[in-house]
Amino acid sequence: MRKIEHIGIAVRNLEEAIPTYEKMLNTSCYKIEEVESEGVKTAFFKIGESKIELLEASKSDSPIAKYIEKRGAGMHHIAYDVEDIHSEIERLEKEGFQLIQSSPKNGADNKLIAFLHPKSTAGTLVELCQERTD
Ligand code: ZN
Repeated sequence: MRKIEHIGIAVRNLEEAIPTYEKMLNTSCYKIEEVESEGVKTAFFKIGESKIELLEASKSDSPIAKYIEKRGAGMHHIAYDVEDIHSEIERLEKEGFQLIQSSPKNGADNKLIAFLHPKSTAGTLVELCQERTD
């Protein structure tokens, strides 16, 4: 893993959260993107090398909706940038980490992504992400 790519934060209302983050970070949201398959609408902010991803549920049965229902809004996951997501998945599986899905899928912001289950990471949902080249 090369660096923290972004931190994902679950919010109840993206339209309210975006101006709050714009004021707090003193920068504009550079991308709003819906990932239909995940039932999520995302908004991205860049601060230096780092990014913040706000996540709002776009469907009532999406993982973000369930997360907020159970634990409230707030920190949701940490995403690490990887050079080759396929070999990272293989390495982590060999090390005994539990992948939520064993093959990467398309995520927001032009990424290939896969998640590690918090059970195997000492409590934090971890996202692996690799920049898509297609
Ligand atoms: Zn993410």
